[in-house]
Amino acid sequence: MNQLEDEIKAAIRDVPDFPKPGIIFKDITPILLQPQLVKKISKHLAEQMQHFNPTAVAAIESRGFFFGVTLAAELGVPFIPVRKKGKLPYKTISYSYALEYGTAEIEMHEDALSSGERVIVHDDLLATGGTAAAASELIQQLGASVCAFSFLVNLSFLNGEETLKKYSPNIVNLVNY
Ligand code: AMP
Repeated sequence: MNQLEDEIKAAIRDVPDFPKPGIIFKDITPILLQPQLVKKISKHLAEQMQHFNPTAVAAIESRGFFFGVTLAAELGVPFIPVRKKGKLPYKTISYSYALEYGTAEIEMHEDALSSGERVIVHDDLLATGGTAAAASELIQQLGASVCAFSFLVNLSFLNGEETLKKYSPNIVNLVNY
């Protein structure tokens, strides 16, 4: 699957100093301009994740939604959006977590999951792991558990996997930097 890794890396655009100086933003939107690559990634990700026997995929706003939806559809399980505070219309549960500066809060619909469910947490990119850990906390609040994580990109020098291990040791990244 090195060929797919090469194709993904070739498509990702590095945008220096976005959203602030010193950050190199990994822009995955050029992938979405290539429907054949979208199909390949969707199928490959589903193959990688299938054996964790998930009952749902939860993905994080907003870039996690692109392949979170295709992953859930390929696996034949429900898709659950995790959103920033104030965006979901129905009754929600929420979790606040620390950012480099200040805090963030994410939410999930309170009826999105049943207790005992096995959930894949998906996002476009793993950096420090704070966001995926917060999504895992929401999943646990509903009595469900994280069976695995999936990311298109892992910024491995930030050690996000260390933060996520306590929720699930199963972490799949399609490309690493
Ligand atoms: P973290 O909580 O530190 O793991 O950050 C992960 C979230 O921030 C994901 O939703 C990413 O989309 C976004 N993110 C963090 N760093 C980058 C980056 N260098 N390029 C693109 N997205 C990033």
